[in-house]
Amino acid sequence: MIIGGFQRFSLIDYPDRICAVVFTQGCNFRCPYCHNPELVRLRRKRSVPNGLKEKEILSFLDRRKGRLDALTVTGGEPLLQSGLGNFLSAVKGLGYLVKLDTNGSFPSGLERIIQSGSIDYIAMDIKTSLDKYEYVIKKGIEKTKILDSIRLIMDSGLDYEFRTTVVPSYDGFERDDFYKIGQLIKDSRLYVLQRFVPSKALDDQFLDMRGCSDEEIDSHKKIMEGFVQRCVVR
Ligand code: SF4
Repeated sequence: MIIGGFQRFSLIDYPDRICAVVFTQGCNFRCPYCHNPELVRLRRKRSVPNGLKEKEILSFLDRRKGRLDALTVTGGEPLLQSGLGNFLSAVKGLGYLVKLDTNGSFPSGLERIIQSGSIDYIAMDIKTSLDKYEYVIKKGIEKTKILDSIRLIMDSGLDYEFRTTVVPSYDGFERDDFYKIGQLIKDSRLYVLQRFVPSKALDDQFLDMRGCSDEEIDSHKKIMEGFVQRCVVR
């Protein structure tokens, strides 16, 4: 694995648990509003400054048993990493809850990890409606992979959430897109609307864009409540 960052303590990255967070390096999407731009580029292991190795993180987690509940693995896109499955199994073997964040473009890898029993919670980004996906992520994608990941997650029996970061002045997030997102994840347990915060972005032009107003986010929430069991705003 190529690990681009490690946070030893977080109260917000695993629902209702105290966790540590591993940030993997590299992503196959190029969302211009990405909040972790330093993690997007695929890099060689030795070029990641202060890069940590899996065994150092496992040793840290071993020492913190009883003080931390969980590990969240985010990115970048974690499913790009060879060795992810072994790492997650080792974390699970230490007795931790494990959450995996994904952009949903690697359903085969996701299925293997679900079947291995090494994760407890999945958070998948739903970037926008399917017809605007490539426009929003600035990359080509087989859209069936997004659909396959949604289905896998909903059928997994695990805890999960789907989530969308909303940039109101970018036209990938119009009213109609939320009706279409609702259809994609109809009946799912939890959908999270995340406000874009223009403090960091992959494309500098997005630093001048605003986040959602309360009225805008409430309007999207009302739409999504018609499709999912629970919708929250973060
Ligand atoms: S927002 Fe997520 S999926 Fe998009 S480029 Fe950043 S890390 Fe990748």
